[in-house]
Amino acid sequence: MKLRDGHVHSPYCPHGTKDSFKMYIERALKLGYTELSFTEHAPLPPSFEDPAPERDSGMKLEFLERYLFDLSLLKNEYKKDLIIHAGLEIDYIEGFEEETSRFIAEYGPALDDSILSVHFLLKDGNYDCMDFSDTVFSTMVTRYGSVDQVHDAYYQTVLASVKADLGPFKPKRIGHMTLSRKFQHRFKPAHSHKKIISGILHEIKKGEYELDYNGAGIFKPYCLEPYPSDDIVKEAFSLGIPLVYGSDAHQSKDLHQGRDQLLFPDALS
Ligand code: ZN
Ligand code: FE
Repeated sequence: MKLRDGHVHSPYCPHGTKDSFKMYIERALKLGYTELSFTEHAPLPPSFEDPAPERDSGMKLEFLERYLFDLSLLKNEYKKDLIIHAGLEIDYIEGFEEETSRFIAEYGPALDDSILSVHFLLKDGNYDCMDFSDTVFSTMVTRYGSVDQVHDAYYQTVLASVKADLGPFKPKRIGHMTLSRKFQHRFKPAHSHKKIISGILHEIKKGEYELDYNGAGIFKPYCLEPYPSDDIVKEAFSLGIPLVYGSDAHQSKDLHQGRDQLLFPDALS
């Protein structure tokens, strides 16, 4: 079985660890991986104010060229043993589609494999970083009116991200589509949101996107399941949506996390 990880962070992550590219690569080789996509958090749109207190959700634009340059050297150095893809995890932020499209038009041609993710939700003119902490999530529950309304806003935004026209270099893969469940054992949703989730999957299928099948949630103490969970993955699989494993590692020792607990291990690309 060929092992691929399509969602890996790097020393360029401002909220991650300083683990070097080589630490990730050597660990991946040890685990038997043959393909790795580095998908660092892309720089956020210049006019977007990062709601995270340290404003460290994305890498600074000034580092992007070096990130890509470092990867070009590593690709060459390891080409006999490992296919390395240079990618980004690009945020879909409601209201910033134009700036995001401009960024993608400029840098997309230099990228091999990227992910489109939602972390920020807009409500009444304010953005929150939904997955930042249980404290932020709790303030959102108050502001939105209920846990389910936060979930619904998340799924609506993911749906919009799939449908958005971000140009020909728009990422092909949708990141952790059930991230709203990160704190589900602390703030329990009353509903399954099955209908909108199914709607998202059908749009993913229609647009020929892939799904990031992300092991990180299994290790979040209030989540304890992958993004997305089993029932959703089964539906995605039956629709023929390609599932791409993502460790979402922010340190080299987190590579491979959760993989052994995922469904359809032989179908993962
Ligand atoms: Zn991150
Ligand atoms: Fe993410």
